[in-house]
Amino acid sequence: MDEGGVTEEEHEAMPPASRAIYFGSFLVTPQVFHTTAHSFALVNLKPLLPGHVLICPKRHIPRFASLTPIETQDLFLTVQRVQRTLTRLYAATAFNVAIQDGEAAGQTVPHVHAHVIPRREGDMDERGGGDKLYEMLEGEEGDVAASLREAGKAGEAAKLEGSERGLRPDEGNRPARGEEEMRKEAEWLREEMGRDAEQ
Ligand code: AMP
Repeated sequence: MDEGGVTEEEHEAMPPASRAIYFGSFLVTPQVFHTTAHSFALVNLKPLLPGHVLICPKRHIPRFASLTPIETQDLFLTVQRVQRTLTRLYAATAFNVAIQDGEAAGQTVPHVHAHVIPRREGDMDERGGGDKLYEMLEGEEGDVAASLREAGKAGEAAKLEGSERGLRPDEGNRPARGEEEMRKEAEWLREEMGRDAEQ
C-alpha cells in the first residue's frame, strides 16, 4: 500500500505523464528532476547546503533492507548519476551520501531516501565545521515532519506567519522553501542532467 493514498497497482496503471509522485505522504511531482526505472530524485524542502537533494525508490517502503537487489542497484546508480551533474553545478570536491534508516537513526519520512549533499572545503566553517552536518541531519533541522506536526497543532499561528505549507519560515533556522522555488530548481536540474547525458 502506498502512503500517498494510491496503491502500487493503481500507480502503474496510470499513463506516465499523469503519475503523481509521492515522497512518503508528500506530493512532490513538481520537485522531481530525474526518474529511472525504480528511482526518482527530488529537490529538498529544507536543504542543509545548496544542492542537497534526495534519491528515493519508487516503491513506498520505509526501510533500506526491504529494497530488492535491482532497486538497490538502481538507487545507488542514480546517486552516482546525480552526483555527476551536482559536481559540475556546485564545483563539489566531495559529497555526503547518507541514509537515515529507521526512526532511531533520525529518519523522519518513512520512505527510503539517500541524502546527496555536495561539499566543498570550508563550506560548513560558519556553522561549526563539516561534521556538524550529520548532527543537523539527525537533529531538529532535518526534522520537517516534526515541524509539520507542530504547525498542525498551531495552524492559526502558522497562517498568520503566511506559510502556505503551515511551516514557520524560521523553523530550525532553516527556511522551508516555497513550491515555486523548488519547481524552478527541479526544472533547472532536469535540464542540466540532460546536458550531462548528451556528452
Ligand atoms: P530524514 O530526516 O533523513 O528522514 O530526511 C528527511 C528529508 O526530507 C529532509 O532533508 C527534509 O528536508 C526533506 N523533506 C521533508 N519533506 C519534504 C518535502 N515535502 N519535499 C522535499 N523534501 C522534504
